[in-house]
Amino acid sequence: MSAPPISDALYDELVGILGAENVLVDKPARYNRTRVPAPFPVHRWDDHVPDVVVLPTTTDEVVEVVKLANRNRTPIVPRAAGTGLADGAVPLRHGILLDVKRMNRIRDIDMTDRTVTVQPGVNMLKLNEVLQPYGVFYPDNPASYPCSMVGGRIGTSGWSLIGARYGHTKDLVISLEVVLPTGKVIRVGGGAGGKVRKSSTALTLKELFFGHQGTLGIATEAVLELVPRPEAEFAAFFSYSDYDTAYRSCGALSKSGLATLAGVVLFDEWKLDYLRRDDEAYIEQPSDVRCVNAVALYGTDAEVVPAARRVMEIGHDTGGRYLGDEVSQGDWAARHDRYAIPLHGRLRSSGQVVPMSWHCEDAALNYSVLPQVREEWHAIADRYIEGYGIFDDWGMFAYTNGSHAPWGDYLVEIDIGIWEQKLDDENWAAWTRCKTEIAAVALKHGGSITACHGATRAGEVDLVPSELGGAFDVMKDIKRLLDPNNVMNPGKYLFDQAYE
Ligand SMILES: Cc1cc2nc3c(=O)[nH]c(=O)nc-3n(C[C@H](O)[C@H](O)[C@H](O)COP(=O)(O)OP(=O)(O)OC[C@H]3O[C@@H](n4cnc5c(N)ncnc54)[C@H](O)[C@@H]3O)c2cc1C
Repeated sequence: MSAPPISDALYDELVGILGAENVLVDKPARYNRTRVPAPFPVHRWDDHVPDVVVLPTTTDEVVEVVKLANRNRTPIVPRAAGTGLADGAVPLRHGILLDVKRMNRIRDIDMTDRTVTVQPGVNMLKLNEVLQPYGVFYPDNPASYPCSMVGGRIGTSGWSLIGARYGHTKDLVISLEVVLPTGKVIRVGGGAGGKVRKSSTALTLKELFFGHQGTLGIATEAVLELVPRPEAEFAAFFSYSDYDTAYRSCGALSKSGLATLAGVVLFDEWKLDYLRRDDEAYIEQPSDVRCVNAVALYGTDAEVVPAARRVMEIGHDTGGRYLGDEVSQGDWAARHDRYAIPLHGRLRSSGQVVPMSWHCEDAALNYSVLPQVREEWHAIADRYIEGYGIFDDWGMFAYTNGSHAPWGDYLVEIDIGIWEQKLDDENWAAWTRCKTEIAAVALKHGGSITACHGATRAGEVDLVPSELGGAFDVMKDIKRLLDPNNVMNPGKYLFDQAYE
């Protein structure tokens, strides 16, 4: 084995804290923890490789590693499952990559106060397998449900496919333990950060630790909400021959006022074209099916049965054609696979299939601006497809966004394929410009750059100060206060400005 890229002294100290089996310096361990599934500058892979990977199992070990990083001024980047799409877990300055996967203990299942306490390396699918016999579940349900982990869900402030009914990650994590960038351990949540959901004692710091992308500390334990397993799940997919009708129908469905509504998803024409063209699981539909709305309800039988009747009426009355039980139930049940990463796209010039990575822009936008943003985003994608010959437009989804208030704003996604092997500095610069333009459209229309992935990616991160205004200065003050040595995931969120 070649010499580790860290000093012998640092390696020895890490081994002293964690044991040699939990300190990895070999190339595969480090290179495999460099990137995430989002488009990555593969031509500059080496720029982002961590020097060492550590796999702690306890909070105390995390504390010791963080203190060591401070003493040495070594960058430290937390990583959970590495599925984040905003490059949050990509080390920008090498250093220590702290992988929380072995912190995967379920510590306490409390059926009286309805909480479960876990370490950050717990995955939701696995957690719910354990919870099944208790008749409850943890309803954080992203498309990445089988692979993402609680720590990453907190770091990104994740969005759940059934969030309209049950809430998103920040609603579902009751409290958490955080190792701050200096090694100090705190609990945040209602009051003392235990199992209390609502408190008004002093400042509520919990939300500070949602969406910070590992820049303000490392979550080492979380108390999560448990809800009764639904007796009934109902899904209905409606088709439309034009976008305007589908858009109005989507609005009517999300404004239905049904308490069991878990989500509405609008697929636009580009998405349908993409599915027809390249999705192996697509069930053939008549060619006049141009757009789709998917609706899901969760609850007790007594709630869901009448609500389903109401959904069918609204769908029908607003111009939708029910796509049948096979598509509706099958597609919704397969949502964790169906929205998974496509691996190929097509070149417009020749129609040739080439390997492509998936970029997913995920702005938060009000209902009123969806049609206009859709036009502008596709026009931007089109220009870059024509100009560079390495991109493909995979269409758009609009998902209901607000927890328990699905009517007002949407997580709006445009999926763009990118032929990574063709990346060089010029193409990468074009790509980041494309993202900046997409994010700028969201801001122009009163939206937010991102609903769940985070705005830490090259391109869109430059617009964070424009979105936040004076609040961005406060954000920098907080970063400097909590992380005086800028060791925690440095280079993200333009936080270097806090130290100038
Ligand atoms: C196929 C697919 C579908 C997806 N669908 C959704 C979706 O429906 N909804 C959604 O919200 N996202 C979705 N995502 C994005 C991704 O799954 C989420 O962002 C998820 O929250 C990331 O979790 P992770 O465990 O992979 O975290 P990672 O990618 O490892 O980390 C994410 C961020 O959190 C930080 N972090 C990790 N662990 C900790 C910790 N213990 N303490 C503090 N910070 C930490 C990291 O530094 C990084 O900045 C999808 C991704 C894929 C690939």
